[in-house]
Amino acid sequence: MKLKFYGTRGSIPICDAGFQQFGGNTTCLQITFTDTNRIAVIDAGTGLRNLGRDLRAIGHKQEQTPIAFTHFHWDHIQGFPFFAPAYDPKQKITLLTLGRDQTVTDLRQIFEVQMQAEYFPVQLDRMGANFEFLQIADASSHFTTFSNVPTIVTAQRHNHPGGAYSSRIERNGKVLVVCTDVEHGEQIDARLVELAHGADLLVHDAQYTAEELLKRRGWGHSSFDQAIQLAEMADVKRLALTHHDPEHDDEFLERIEKLCRERFPNAVLAREGMEISIGEAI
Ligand SMILES: [Zn+2]
Ligand SMILES: [Zn+2]
Repeated sequence: MKLKFYGTRGSIPICDAGFQQFGGNTTCLQITFTDTNRIAVIDAGTGLRNLGRDLRAIGHKQEQTPIAFTHFHWDHIQGFPFFAPAYDPKQKITLLTLGRDQTVTDLRQIFEVQMQAEYFPVQLDRMGANFEFLQIADASSHFTTFSNVPTIVTAQRHNHPGGAYSSRIERNGKVLVVCTDVEHGEQIDARLVELAHGADLLVHDAQYTAEELLKRRGWGHSSFDQAIQLAEMADVKRLALTHHDPEHDDEFLERIEKLCRERFPNAVLAREGMEISIGEAI
């Protein structure tokens, strides 16, 4: 598997000078199953626009493309109306939630509302692609069928306003865990330690410093320190920190990255366009 960050910014996109190294687009991750050259997407933040453009540029053809959602806050859906493959009548796009106890009752409605005439000129049913909306508690069989290789996907609900989900994807003995928009509280969430256990790569929310987190209780995010703590507790091999706060510029994030690496040498702060091969030597 290979992971590419198309959006690393939290909360709102940012285009100011001094933010471009780590990137201004909001959360969007592309997973490539390198043996079959199929892709899956996690979250449709503004980074999704560039993802769609890149697929076109390289002539990537895939009959069905899944987009799985951690949750549906703006910064995780805003790129959807600008995803070029969604306008291709030959394209099938599966939008899906993973995990049990979803609070979302009507998945289609979320996107219908986002694209209703007051907000956007093209409505969902006029986009062109063939959309499928799925809410699945156990995603393993779905991803195995889709990717031709046994792929175990486990999702875990975690603390975030309105709820959000972490995912663990295991394939060919390699493990990717994505855990964003999570607030741990007093203790690191033990369920997430279990979910991330032994991962080759953990992608984790790191919106705040420890000091900022004290003033942002209830906002639904983690500190750099907590992300490293979870990585250590779960014995993960590599850590990528993401969902950068819109107030954190490149200079600030570079300084934080140095500090993080002193404590966890295999930590990196995600940059827009960064690709990580999962399970390969660092
Ligand atoms: Zn977010
Ligand atoms: Zn959120």
